[in-house]
Amino acid sequence: MTDRYAVLGNPVAHSKSPRIHTLFAIQTGQDMHYEAILAPLTGFAAVVGEFAAAAGRGANVTVPFKEEAFRLADRLTPRAQAAGAVNTLVFAENGILGDNTDGAGLVRDLTSNLGLALRGRRVLLLGAGGAARGVVGPLLEEKPASLVIANRTAERAQRLAEAFAGASGGGFAELAGRSFDLVINATSAGLVDAALPLPAGTFAGGCVAYEMMYGRITPFLVMAQEAGATIADGLGMLVEQAAEAFLLWRGIRPQTGPVLAQLRQE
Ligand code: NDP
Repeated sequence: MTDRYAVLGNPVAHSKSPRIHTLFAIQTGQDMHYEAILAPLTGFAAVVGEFAAAAGRGANVTVPFKEEAFRLADRLTPRAQAAGAVNTLVFAENGILGDNTDGAGLVRDLTSNLGLALRGRRVLLLGAGGAARGVVGPLLEEKPASLVIANRTAERAQRLAEAFAGASGGGFAELAGRSFDLVINATSAGLVDAALPLPAGTFAGGCVAYEMMYGRITPFLVMAQEAGATIADGLGMLVEQAAEAFLLWRGIRPQTGPVLAQLRQE
């Protein structure tokens, strides 16, 4: 029987994960089917249960369920435990395993695909939701000079930073007078075309601005470009985090380069 996988989110129709995993499956000769499932905002756990019961072997979790998936998992990998958020579920005989591949995916995209060394850089992470939580630990492992987390709800950024030695957190207003070499937007503000209240001077000369969303020019990217930053979107991160999940599920690491090139073409 063909093994079933899915991405669970709300909204989820725009997701490229089904396409990516289908290309990985063809490339590696795996017999699997991957679909997108819309979970009601108050019914995530029920959808997970139904999918697992219907021969689901694993799932990716996207906006806004990553923290709920963390609470739902019976067991967690160390990186999911550290993140407090889960983007990958494995349905095993002995319960649900939760992992978080977002951070590994982001770091691999930044360092391998974009050729950006993070050591010694001043890094600003915008947002404190599920995506931001997943990337703090892996970013710190790259030994940046500093890692500042800024969020609309300042307390959330403060709490997130407190969980990691080497990070500091607060609201957007506290960024006044500071400049960064890498600014990563892990908010979902771009989904509704909302601008972020970043003070002038946030983007240092030679700055790279990374938008985790993909497929649209968001107000963040426009602002960064106007400030002279080099911009990148999150498609590479998406493909890289998917490859990590695929490895966990199938025991094979697919080649990401050809899949990323194919998606950019499409
Ligand atoms: P969550 O819903 O968990 O968190 C949303 C975050 O965005 C919170 O920090 C929230 O702030 C902030 N936010 C939302 N709206 C606004 C706004 N109008 N102005 C300022 N801040 C806002 O979402 P996720 O963390 O799971 O995902 C965030 C984004 O990252 C999404 O766009 C998602 O598509 C993208 N992503 C991309 C990945 C990739 O592989 N490329 C992987 C994972 C995520 P507050 O706390 O104040 O509510």
